[in-house]
Amino acid sequence: MSVIPPESVVGVLGSGQLGRMFAIAAREMGYRVHTFSPESDTPTGQVADDEIIAGYDDLEQVRTFARGVKVVTFEFENVPAQTAQAAAEHAPVRPAGSVLHVTQHRLREKNFLAQHGFPVTPFRPVRSAAEARAAAAELGPGVIKTAAFGYDGKGQTKVSSPEEAERAIGAPSGLERVYEAFVDFERELSVVAARGLDGSFAHWGVIENAHRNHILDVSVCPAHVPPAVAAEAVQIARGILEQLDVVGVLCVEFFLTREGNLLVNELAPRPHNSGHLTIDAHVTSQFEQQLRAVCGLPLGSTQQLRPAAMANLLGDLWEPGEPDWSAACAQPGVKLHLYGKAEPRPGRKMGHLTALAETADEAARLVVRAREALRRRIG
Ligand code: AMP
Repeated sequence: MSVIPPESVVGVLGSGQLGRMFAIAAREMGYRVHTFSPESDTPTGQVADDEIIAGYDDLEQVRTFARGVKVVTFEFENVPAQTAQAAAEHAPVRPAGSVLHVTQHRLREKNFLAQHGFPVTPFRPVRSAAEARAAAAELGPGVIKTAAFGYDGKGQTKVSSPEEAERAIGAPSGLERVYEAFVDFERELSVVAARGLDGSFAHWGVIENAHRNHILDVSVCPAHVPPAVAAEAVQIARGILEQLDVVGVLCVEFFLTREGNLLVNELAPRPHNSGHLTIDAHVTSQFEQQLRAVCGLPLGSTQQLRPAAMANLLGDLWEPGEPDWSAACAQPGVKLHLYGKAEPRPGRKMGHLTALAETADEAARLVVRAREALRRRIG
């Protein structure tokens, strides 16, 4: 099994903050990074050695990009299947296009999970108003989600009756959707895990996540769950990475029901927002681990150095004016990460704060307080 050594060029499909933090980890270890996306001056491009600007459907450009690198990974899972295929003609793509294929489509992903015996939120495929009505009658209140290209709650409608479900679908559009039972969860959890080229497995334990408007707001590690629940979540994650034959990092998002059952909500075949705290709180971050995995290096220790919490910084924070960065930086144990995005639109992930403390609860209080301090306007 050949190792792709430092000084080699690693290619990243996508150019957002995940690629940026991956590129920073790669550079720390002496690798070069090329990023490919339709945009310029991107969060990844700003720290990469080369930023290739072309559409994902420009397969000739994709081939040229792949010829210039030793391995291709991605930070954006909604790249078309043909893009991964074209890249794979010239360099290994890790995780493989087959992993993208399953995880970029909710129905395929849920069918995969159900067929392999993983616990998944009850769901039905719905293509028409009549099917949505029937699904709501069978499963009770639910969430209708588009099957393809959804993220951060986009393309989701909550419905509480068969009539509402029927109305939510409206006129036939041919759009594939999933009707998912609404889960009255106690907590939302995630397990970020990695699998090496040799099948080795690593994880950062269970992370607890709070969302606001369907977007991740605060993550805390370790999560407040009994050891048996944590062990089961890790076991499920391991099974999923093995069944999908992942080489790289994959995040499993869970609902923990009030009865103490774990249900998989969704998979992300890449480092995940809930794993950002691993940069400051663990021996090896999720980004360094992605690099190690895709380059065929041994996976690094995932030992946690201190309890930690992460708070996202969305564009909304800029509404009253430039945030007061020194107020957050003045808090001991708080680290600032910004993604180099010029335009702070509401809901846009601009950066995050991580706080380290004696306990996870203390870290959560600290990180929320530090984010509040940012709102104090300068001048
Ligand atoms: P998703 O994009 O599917 O991860 O959904 C974003 C967020 O919406 C989740 O993290 C939950 O907070 C909420 N949500 C999504 N699906 C459900 C569901 N079936 N039951 C309850 N809450 C949900």
